[in-house]
Amino acid sequence: MHVSSRLSSGGLIFCATAAFAVADDRNPFRYQIHDSNRAQPPVVDPGSAGPPVPPPADAIVLFDGSDFEHWRAMDGSEVPWKLVDGAMQVVPESGDIRTKRTFGDVQLHVEFKTYLDSPGSGQSRSNSGVFLGPYEVQVLDSYENETYPDGMVGALYGQYPPLVNAARPPGEWQTFDIIYRAPVFNDAGVMVRPARFTVFHNNVLVQDNEELIGPTSHAIRQHYHAHGNVPIRLQDHADDLMHFRNIWVRELD
Ligand code: MG
Repeated sequence: MHVSSRLSSGGLIFCATAAFAVADDRNPFRYQIHDSNRAQPPVVDPGSAGPPVPPPADAIVLFDGSDFEHWRAMDGSEVPWKLVDGAMQVVPESGDIRTKRTFGDVQLHVEFKTYLDSPGSGQSRSNSGVFLGPYEVQVLDSYENETYPDGMVGALYGQYPPLVNAARPPGEWQTFDIIYRAPVFNDAGVMVRPARFTVFHNNVLVQDNEELIGPTSHAIRQHYHAHGNVPIRLQDHADDLMHFRNIWVRELD
């Protein structure tokens, strides 16, 4: 519960409201994790893919198609993915990759392409993800591919479905523009301000300053654990030949 108080002409008024009162259907606690009864977001055609979005002057370019200079395997070894036509191609079952650098509050731009000939469906159709530390913005081929809403493309995985489904068809480049506000922890390691995400998928708003209830995870809900700056991580879900390109970030703090 979020409790606030304010003074009015009538004196001290206490307002105790559910933290998600403004849009209660977004409240993750109203649903089971991966609840298939949750409403499917409406489909919005985002229009055709454009050329890569150029990084602004103050951006840190994390991937321009030429090398994996800014990236490592999760264990710190060389990236096991491939460079193909100016993009990085996931090598299924080789593992996730992460940035060498770590970040606090950021604006992150990522472009991705789901696999044209995926044999999978639901969660196994071009599953990947863009992580800020323990928090995943889901990548999936959600074009005419239904799954549980908190696991579709643009979901804050297991917590918030996207506001709309702005997916492009497989084989077309798509964009994420993610604003990550890091959680704040006190000296005792207790979360005092949750992580917040705003996400645009193909230029369409799909997450509007949502407050995570903890790290994202599959099937179980997790409590916050204190952390500082985090790497950006791209997921190998061992499904399809996913591609990423043109990754840049602006530090906000
Ligand atoms: Mg994923």
